Order: sequence, then structure tokens, then C-alpha cells
Amino acid sequence: MIYLDHNATTPLDPRVLDAMMPFLTDRFGNAASRHHSLGCDAATATETARQQVASTIGADPREIVWTSGATESDNLALQGVVNSPVYRKRHLITVATEHRAVLDTCEALEHRGVAVTYLPVDAHGRLDLGQLADAITDQTLLVSVMHANNETGVIHPIGEIGGICRERGVLFHTDATQSFAKQPIDVHSMHIDLLSASGHKIHGPKGVGLLYLRRRDPRVRCQGLLYGGGHERGLRSGTLNVPSIVGMGLAATLPHGSGIGALRDRLERGLLSRLPGVEVNGLSADRLATTANVSFADVDGATLMKRMPDLAVSSSSACTSALLQPSYVLGAMGCDEDRARGSIRFSLGRFTTAEEIELALDTVVEAVTELRAADD
Ligand SMILES: *Cc1c(COP(=O)(O)O)cnc(C)c1O
Repeated sequence: MIYLDHNATTPLDPRVLDAMMPFLTDRFGNAASRHHSLGCDAATATETARQQVASTIGADPREIVWTSGATESDNLALQGVVNSPVYRKRHLITVATEHRAVLDTCEALEHRGVAVTYLPVDAHGRLDLGQLADAITDQTLLVSVMHANNETGVIHPIGEIGGICRERGVLFHTDATQSFAKQPIDVHSMHIDLLSASGHKIHGPKGVGLLYLRRRDPRVRCQGLLYGGGHERGLRSGTLNVPSIVGMGLAATLPHGSGIGALRDRLERGLLSRLPGVEVNGLSADRLATTANVSFADVDGATLMKRMPDLAVSSSSACTSALLQPSYVLGAMGCDEDRARGSIRFSLGRFTTAEEIELALDTVVEAVTELRAADD
């Protein structure tokens, strides 16, 4: 099996597993039970991890809230800020190509009387920052724009967006799940007030994530979603998932892998040169080095994937492909339905090799050629 679906999830780095193992066995204490050494040990381990993830984005460890993953972080960011009694403003701005965790939360908030502006993107998935600035009103509480898109890898200029938000006195949240620990992020120079990330997208464990919440200039007010023991400064009740937190902490410090961009380029160039009717979605935009979103004319992505059982890729977004609808992300980029249906996302990881890319190329070229021939 050649695994090129790292934007959906990544295999655990063996070093991360090694770091987690003691906390799945002997060192099983509850990080809230600080009256004995097992509990203290667990608490210390989660604080070390908090420092590791905080330093990855230039934050203070006290600004990190552990969650169950980026879906929860996005929910906590948007609902938590809207629910805070401190804020009266009732308008949010986001983008049509955000992850469903953001879009569905926004829709739910609309049912509760919050106005939401969904900004469009151009054919390459890029935002118009002038349009973003124009959308801000005196009612705007928060702008939520993802750093890198999970389907196309397109990177938004979050530093510039943060600058606009800061200047206008609006909070800025970014879903950085795909870029965290891969792209340089500095919450101060980029004026980020809230940031979501997840363990399992960075060769860490599933079921753990974080929300960064700025403590000063401005201090972000956020209301927890869960009632309970008041863990994480009241923002996220529930016993800490110590092994996974330890794993995510270490995962955040590991180098992402330097040759990935060259492998991705090799894959794209190979497809473009060996097959007609191939288009790379988001080609002209700034993109993550890990992601190639490619449309094959006259081919259905789901059918193509069935022809390649030994190649793990994704058509549309893994999270929504159960719906069998063409990708709303590509739709927002103006792709017609056929082009969107004929798209495959290849996403590479730390352990992807040149041999795997060559094999994947041969597999895709053969399958596309056969499918097109069968249609004629
Ligand atoms: C994967 C992903 C999520 C969801 O993360 P989970 O930790 O699986 O809940 C949210 N946003 C983006 C951009 C993602 O890629």
C-alpha cells in the first residue's frame, strides 16, 4: 500500500510512540491528582508538552488549551467567543473553502442570530484581502481564515489578514491544522488571537489537539463548551489525555521533512507530462509542499480510486466524500462539477519516498489511461 493521504491523517512517528508508551503503561496518573507523585508526573509531562507546542508558534504555554482535536478547537474558538458575555458584536467573517468544522459551526451560530459572511475565493483558491477588509463592520467580532487548505494545500497570507484584523479591532482565528509544525507560524508577528491544531495531522496521535488563545493585547475571552471539573482554566473540562498530549508535544518539535516539496513537484510534473487533460488545482497559489490536488478530464475520481486499490489517496475531502458530492472547495474555486468529480488529492508525509512517488505515478497513469479507453 502506498499511502498518499496524509492530509486525512498521518502515521505515528516511531519517536512519538516511544515517548507515549510509558504514559500508556506505568506512568498512568491523572494530571489533576497533584497530591501524589503519579499525578504530579502526569501534570509535569503535560506542561512540558504545552511548552513544546507553544514554542512552535511563539506562544506562552498558558495560552494553550488541550482539546480532543481540531474539530473541537474550531468549535471552542467560534462558539466560545460568541458565547462569552463580554462580547456584544454579532458578526463573523469566514471563507467558503474552510473545513466543515468551521463552516458547520458558523451555520449553527447563524441559527442563533449571528450574521456570517462567507468570503469567496478566486480560481486558484486565493482570497481578495480588499474584500475581506471591506466585509468588516462595526458589528464584526471575529474573522476565521484557515492557514492552509486541507484539500488543495492553498496557503492564505495569515500575517496580512491578522494585520488587517488587529488594525480594525477584530479578533482573528486561524485553523492551522494543516500547517502547524510544518510552516513557520508566529502568533505575535502574524497577529493571531486564536489558533486550532491537531495531533494526528503531524505524525502524532489521534484524539488530541489544541486551541491557542491570546492572553494579552488583546486578551481573548472564551466560554468553555463542556461543564465539569474546570480543567484547562475552565475552558475544557475533562481529564487530560496525557499519553496523546505527550505525543503531540513531541510531534510538534520534530522536523517536518525537507524533501517533500521536491517529491510533490515530481508527482505533479509526471502527471502533467505523461497524461493529457490534467490540471493541478491551486497551481498558481502559494501552497503547502505536501499537497497535490489534480483533476483528470473525463474521469470520475471515485471510480479511479477503485481502480487503484494499492494507492491510498482521496477524492474530494475524506470527511465529506461519504456524501458523494463533488468538493465544495473546488466548487468555490469555480471548478465545474465534472472537473471537481475528476479530482484526486495526493498528500505526502515525512516518510514518503521517491520510489513510492514513481510507483504512484505509474499506477495513476495506467488507471486513467484504461478508464478513458474503456469510455471510448
Ligand atoms: C483534519 C482537519 C480538521 C479536523 O481535525 P480533527 O483533529 O480530525 O478533528 C480541521 N481542520 C482542518 C483544516 C483539517 O485538515
